[in-house]
Amino acid sequence: MCGIVGFIGQEQAAPILLDGLAHLEYRGYDSAGVAVISAQGKLQVEKAVGRLKVLSEQIHGGADLEGCIGLGHTRWATHGAPNIINSHPHVSENGKFAVIHNGIIENFAELREELEGRGHHFKSETDTEVFAHLIEEAYAETHDLMASVREACTHVVGAYGPVSYTHL
Ligand code: GLU
Repeated sequence: MCGIVGFIGQEQAAPILLDGLAHLEYRGYDSAGVAVISAQGKLQVEKAVGRLKVLSEQIHGGADLEGCIGLGHTRWATHGAPNIINSHPHVSENGKFAVIHNGIIENFAELREELEGRGHHFKSETDTEVFAHLIEEAYAETHDLMASVREACTHVVGAYGPVSYTHL
């Protein structure tokens, strides 16, 4: 029962993401995180365990993260402890794709094993991280984010709502 927010616009994204997540706090969560792309294409990721207030204070209400594109997440842990590494967003190995996800990927263990067999290295214990690796792998073929997310979704079984962004 997490919260999931994405923003693309003219305004600074981080305060809007924090505000959106605050509206979803009633759903319950154990940690929170945001990713914002700067105008120069730098991916900035910030996470905190506990209340959204902790994350908000950590990034000074969003003032620390410059950029008009971003995504935000409050996590209710299902796979992996509620800690910083397992908090979303998860970033692909090449650092180009940030993913947040609501739900459960039922076949994540088998997907993770397959991906590791193809040389991928995982940082977290989450089911979600397979999405980041699948999207990165698909993008190497398609060079198209939408097509890559669709391709990733063809491998994933379960209930999920992902948000992904790339600055490629
Ligand atoms: N299954 C994911 C995790 O444990 C997402 C849980 C959620 O919906 O917050 O990280």
